[in-house]
Amino acid sequence: MIKGNFPIEKFETLQTPFYYYDTALLRQTLDIVKHESEQYNYDVHYALKANVNSDLLRIIASYGLGADCVSGNEIQAAIEAGFPAEKVVFAGVGKTDREINRALDFDIFCFNAESEQELQVINMLATKKGKKARVALRINPNVDAHTHHYITTGLNENKFGFNIENLDKVIAVIPSLTNLEFIGLHFHIGSQITDLSSFQDLCVRVNELQDDLEEKGIVLKHINIGGGLGINYEHPNHFPIADFETYFRLFHKNLRLREGQQLHCEPGRSIVAQCGSLITRVTYIKKGISKQFAIVDAGMTDLIRPALYEAHHRIENISSNEPVEFYDVVGPICESSDVFQKHCELNGSRRGDFLALRSAGAYGEIMASRYNLRELPKAYLSEKLIVNG
Ligand SMILES: *Cc1c(COP(=O)(O)O)cnc(C)c1O
Repeated sequence: MIKGNFPIEKFETLQTPFYYYDTALLRQTLDIVKHESEQYNYDVHYALKANVNSDLLRIIASYGLGADCVSGNEIQAAIEAGFPAEKVVFAGVGKTDREINRALDFDIFCFNAESEQELQVINMLATKKGKKARVALRINPNVDAHTHHYITTGLNENKFGFNIENLDKVIAVIPSLTNLEFIGLHFHIGSQITDLSSFQDLCVRVNELQDDLEEKGIVLKHINIGGGLGINYEHPNHFPIADFETYFRLFHKNLRLREGQQLHCEPGRSIVAQCGSLITRVTYIKKGISKQFAIVDAGMTDLIRPALYEAHHRIENISSNEPVEFYDVVGPICESSDVFQKHCELNGSRRGDFLALRSAGAYGEIMASRYNLRELPKAYLSEKLIVNG
């Protein structure tokens, strides 16, 4: 079996489970993101909700990216990690007054507003502070992202954004909201999108919408196409970096930007997913009637994606080179959904072996919980383990 590179001797001294981040891969990924986006002068905002590990944030910020935040605490974390406030965008259907005030105090670049009432509240709070808030409207383009229904966001049935049908009414209201500056349109159709034709559909929708608005004399400076680029969960060793070249070229070819218009995007998963692995040890091998279980010391509390989204993570036994066998890899939590993978092909496994659950850098550590009163998993960076030893 092909496996990732892991410093197993170093792991011996650490308490499992823990997240392990390969920062060399993160840096390579960021180099490519930077190179490909700069060709077209696109602005990239890292979507913090994928992973807010402060060491990773500092690395990402050091590449000059902006930040896409969905809570006041994420804005705080972004600024503390070195993302400049003038590159912070703030999305979310339920921004509270407290969060809006915090964002106003930081003078962030833009609020991606999702309802008319929200616009009124931002305007009211900005007025109180004597400030002008820059806003973009998050549009629900009714584009199918062809991804798991829990992570599709751009259909009429989803709670996010303004429906195109209601847009005229909202745009008519904005001039009366004197402390808002309407600067752009925002879209985000879903996550883990591997069928790139969904992004092509998005471009068509954005072009149509821009034509309509232009007829009404409205041209906005900023177009934000959100995040959602998928990664290869099946073959992280063969495809460690998402195809940013094709992704950016697709927008360049299909989106008709107007003179002086700036394109923004918000990748989360595609930046951090592949650099992370959840490292766990086999606690027991249990032989059932028709199958055997590898019971590991990580559970759905450490990595909830398989239980929540039926997500697949490649699992490698990094301690064993014995002939492969099949196991149901399960956690210790008292829930039947606490299964990482059924009928998983692993090198012959024993108590104490290390398993790596790959591609766990996005929506992993940050979604950990203390259910069953478990400890939260720790996290280690490859460069620190190797340097500090
Ligand atoms: C979650 C989210 C993103 C990032 O999505 P990925 O699939 O991780 O790239 C970007 N923009 C918004 C508004 C989001 O909610």
